[in-house]
Amino acid sequence: MRKGSWLRNRLGLLVLCFLLCTAQFVLPLSRVAYADEDEEEEDDKKKKEKKNDDDEEDDDDGGKNSSSSEIDDLKRQIEESKAAKEKANATKNELASGMASVRQVIGSLQTEKDNVVTYVATLDAAMEQIQDDLDSINDSIEENEMQIEEAKESIAEAEEELDEAERIRQEEYIGIKDQVKFMYLASKSTYLDILVSSENISDLLNRTRYITKIMDYDKKKLDEYADAVAEADRAKKVLEDEKQVLEEKQGELEEKQEEAQEKKDDMSELISAKETEIDQYSATIGSKEEQVKEYEQMIAQQDAEIASIEAAIRQQQAALDEASRKVYGGGQFVWPAPKYTRISDDYGMRLHPTLGVQMMHNGIDMAAPSGSPILAAADGTVIAAAYSASMGNYIMIDHGSDIITVYMHASALNVSVGQDVSAGDRIGSVGSTGRSTGPHLHFGVRKNGSYVNPWSYLK
Ligand SMILES: [Zn+2]
Repeated sequence: MRKGSWLRNRLGLLVLCFLLCTAQFVLPLSRVAYADEDEEEEDDKKKKEKKNDDDEEDDDDGGKNSSSSEIDDLKRQIEESKAAKEKANATKNELASGMASVRQVIGSLQTEKDNVVTYVATLDAAMEQIQDDLDSINDSIEENEMQIEEAKESIAEAEEELDEAERIRQEEYIGIKDQVKFMYLASKSTYLDILVSSENISDLLNRTRYITKIMDYDKKKLDEYADAVAEADRAKKVLEDEKQVLEEKQGELEEKQEEAQEKKDDMSELISAKETEIDQYSATIGSKEEQVKEYEQMIAQQDAEIASIEAAIRQQQAALDEASRKVYGGGQFVWPAPKYTRISDDYGMRLHPTLGVQMMHNGIDMAAPSGSPILAAADGTVIAAAYSASMGNYIMIDHGSDIITVYMHASALNVSVGQDVSAGDRIGSVGSTGRSTGPHLHFGVRKNGSYVNPWSYLK
């Protein structure tokens, strides 16, 4: 019984020991067996990213190895072009502000001119009023002149009438004078006869009365003629008075006419002066507009110059881009996971760890503890430093000649896109991010857009 119990104890110890030993042995094994599950799905994406680069690569075979002095030259040319463009822009801005101030001057000149034009319009209205006044004065003068003419004619007629009356009176006077003379001569004795032949005093008186009657008749006739002459003379005088009044009125009208004419002349002078002013404004505005046109031409020239500088910059930039294309220098890559050379999963076909089917593994899994450094395999430029669900934190470096290295599952990234790195620079830390079963560095190499065996560059 004791023997069996001992044996049982020995066996138990052996089992324990075995278990312990196995555990010691199995644990590190299981650690190095950590691998990523699948990065295949990322291939298409990377291929697309590199497609554009491939197109450019084709016509680049001639001048791949650009010297740094050539690149510096191009950079200097671009800087010079940019400075020239800035200068051209500054000149353009100066021209534009010059043009703006000329336009401002034109604006204020136009306002001043408009004011004068408005003033001339009121002067024209006033002028019209003056002209109306002058026209009515002239009408009055004309009418008055006609009245004076009529008065003159009437006076002439009255003079004729007066002359006629005077003539008749003269004629009648001569007739009566002749009659009296005849009577006196022909019957010198008549009075005596009458006196002598009168039978009595009554008869004498009758006969004398008769003579007196004849005499009275003649006298009456003469008086009538004299009255007619006086009447004609008075009528003529009335007409002459009327003519006098008309002539005085004519004088007044002519004075008014003179005043109105003076006003008109003054107004004409003022309007003419203002119109000259307007012409001067127009001429100045015209010359300013010429200046604006010149400015516009100069600005257009400047724009053309700027455009040609921009075209030159684009050309120079293209040349620089071409000259700056990275060319892989060749030689062996730096081992990206220093001190850790154990490969937990190699490049090539493998049984997928979770899917259980044969699949392509497009890189090398280097077993390394979390936090250990990841180094750049060669000189190059970081073209990706990001996170993806499958690759975890990953980095891609372009080494030129269409060679790209890929580093996956990092716990930390030390670089960013666009950064230039040298071979051996620390770019991140090993981790187990993304689709990974434990800490390791998945290292891949792409050539012309496809994954290739990294060993070609590591041995
Ligand atoms: Zn892997």
